[in-house]
Amino acid sequence: MAYAHLVKPGSKVNLDKIDPGYHDGLEKEAAFEEMAKIGERIGELQELMAAASQTALLIIFQGRDTSGKDGAINRILSYVNVQTARVAAFKVPTEKERGHDFLWRVHMETPARGGMTVFNRSHYEDVVVVRVHDLIPKKVWKPRYDQINEFEQLLVSSNTVVLKFYLHISKEEQEQRLLEREKDAEKAWKLSIGDWKERDFWDKYTEAYEDALEKCSTEGAPWRVISANHKWFRDLAIAQAIVHALEPHEAGWRAHLESLGKEERALLLDYRKAGGKPTKAE
Ligand code: ADP
Repeated sequence: MAYAHLVKPGSKVNLDKIDPGYHDGLEKEAAFEEMAKIGERIGELQELMAAASQTALLIIFQGRDTSGKDGAINRILSYVNVQTARVAAFKVPTEKERGHDFLWRVHMETPARGGMTVFNRSHYEDVVVVRVHDLIPKKVWKPRYDQINEFEQLLVSSNTVVLKFYLHISKEEQEQRLLEREKDAEKAWKLSIGDWKERDFWDKYTEAYEDALEKCSTEGAPWRVISANHKWFRDLAIAQAIVHALEPHEAGWRAHLESLGKEERALLLDYRKAGGKPTKAE
């Protein structure tokens, strides 16, 4: 059973109806055991994907402050070969970025075939934070949902697997996490008055996120809501969704690599027949 809540294209989203503390009855210990197996599988699949170089993987993380984007990204990256994976973080756009369309800076960071890129925030800020804080007029952000869907469709039709995770925490859990940062000297560097101020906009964020999840969950690039109050369940749900998304490609990658191997062997055989000899190093 899938641990993530898949937003069916065309369906309504009510975040209050999705339990952020959900953990499918799992205990922490059992979850860690399952996670170790799933993590190994992610590593195996990502290695095949990189070697076959036919498919790219884009993972998008969105969520409120303290929802665990950084923690989840660290965890997922711990299972993959970092030589073929990278993270792109999206902050307040620079002056140069603001001079372009909102997808310009995003498109440049998308992975090439064989590669994996994780977005820490994304183009969804351009329909969420800008709306919550009235940074731009409605007539500018409203058409963006369709523009985002077209953009993601372009990526999907160019062999990119697009996975989108909304990390769902409760208001109480957020308060706990912010208070912990205050208490813990080692975590205090993460403190920001802005995070407390943003809590005043909790409902506006809920509304903006529900709209983004509803309008931009498509067949090719659906949204998944991840119950994220329990960090161990959050990571497990994400990891499982990644494996489920990559597995259908596995047979194709293996077949492609096998045929590449056959071609190379045939070339080597011809070389040997023509008198080519292994060097000492071989
Ligand atoms: P994080 O909170 O992700 O750890 P920062 O504290 O640097 O990292 O926050 C990045 C900030 O940039 C967030 O407040 C986010 O809303 C903002 N941001 C990202 N993209 C945009 C955008 N397109 N327009 C306005 N603000 C944005």
